Amino acid sequence: MRVALYDHAKLYREHHEAIDAAIARMLESGQFTWGEEVPAFEEEFASWVNARHAVAMGSGTAALTTALRALEIGPGDEVITVANTELTGVAAISAVGATVVWVDIDPASRCIDTTACEAAITPRTRALLPVDMYGHPADMIEMRRIADRHGLALVEDACIALGAEIDGRRLGSHADVTCFSFSPGKHLGAMGAAGACTTQNAVLADRIHRLASDGQARGRHYDPTPGIGQHHETEGHNQRMDEMQAAILRAKLPHLVETLAVRRAQADRYTERLVGLADLPAEGTGFRHAWRNYVIELDRRDELAAHLFAHGIGCNALYSPPMHLQSVYRGLGYAVGSLPRTERSGKRLLGLPLGPHLSIEQIDIVADEVRVGLA
Ligand SMILES: *Cc1c(COP(=O)(O)O)cnc(C)c1O
Repeated sequence: MRVALYDHAKLYREHHEAIDAAIARMLESGQFTWGEEVPAFEEEFASWVNARHAVAMGSGTAALTTALRALEIGPGDEVITVANTELTGVAAISAVGATVVWVDIDPASRCIDTTACEAAITPRTRALLPVDMYGHPADMIEMRRIADRHGLALVEDACIALGAEIDGRRLGSHADVTCFSFSPGKHLGAMGAAGACTTQNAVLADRIHRLASDGQARGRHYDPTPGIGQHHETEGHNQRMDEMQAAILRAKLPHLVETLAVRRAQADRYTERLVGLADLPAEGTGFRHAWRNYVIELDRRDELAAHLFAHGIGCNALYSPPMHLQSVYRGLGYAVGSLPRTERSGKRLLGLPLGPHLSIEQIDIVADEVRVGLA
């Protein structure tokens, strides 16, 4: 591959001393669960996103599922979301027994269309679940207004938007619960599965902590006092972040700002070089993109993808085809034509390589090859 979509080993090598030291520290502590790394990461991450509370989770999927559970969303409840996302967002809704309601997107941001969202509210709606697509924030200001007007919970899937901002404020405190993923290919990549929930609400944070820890509160998960032992205040699951991943993420968090700047410079370069060749992603007024992906749209998508592959350039049709057209969700009453803007975007979109593993020269190689492929 001349230009790969990811290179996790390269990113590890760049910071291997800090990462190796963090892993050794964690191993030497002997505290492989309920140690000091997870609470320290929670504090550092909450402070980075300016949220009052962060709960470290085993994955972004666990974050989404546990957020819905903590908000007591369940059978009979409808959750409104978008279909141009990962299966996990939908599976989280099903996991708590609720019903997914898909609405169309705003084609400019490719995030939830707020008008369509409000129009889809029924007496059974309990929560809204916008997704910040490719790093561009959903209109969380308007989503908050809609949620408040109708008394609904607001859960944000910011798994691919860490570091994005609205009016100068980082994502992490706009929703009741904001969910992040630290899967290796995301902005802050762990060496395996990891995620987080952030919230301004102490009661919710405590509930999420317990739900992710087999119903136990930290500090009381095992009480050695004779006759006391374990306690379970609620039911829960084992969905906490590993101490190992927390140690690694603490070593990487100080570099997040610089990798966001690298992403932005690469996106700007693409925009400069590709103007006129395809529909290019843009930042809406007041929004700051986190550039997880640089996703262009064009009618000749398949032809261009084949050309790029043939010339050693990684690219992908991200989060497409949309969930309402996946065979697993056949039978939910959606079909081709149900969400026309989502479907059109899904057929035309192509993600180009972008990230701190690449140099600006490699971005130029991709841009040149796009030009040649479309000539
Ligand atoms: C990655 C991702 C998730 C899930 O995160 P995991 O950590 O892989 O479980 C959820 N939503 C979106 C949009 C994602 O990209």
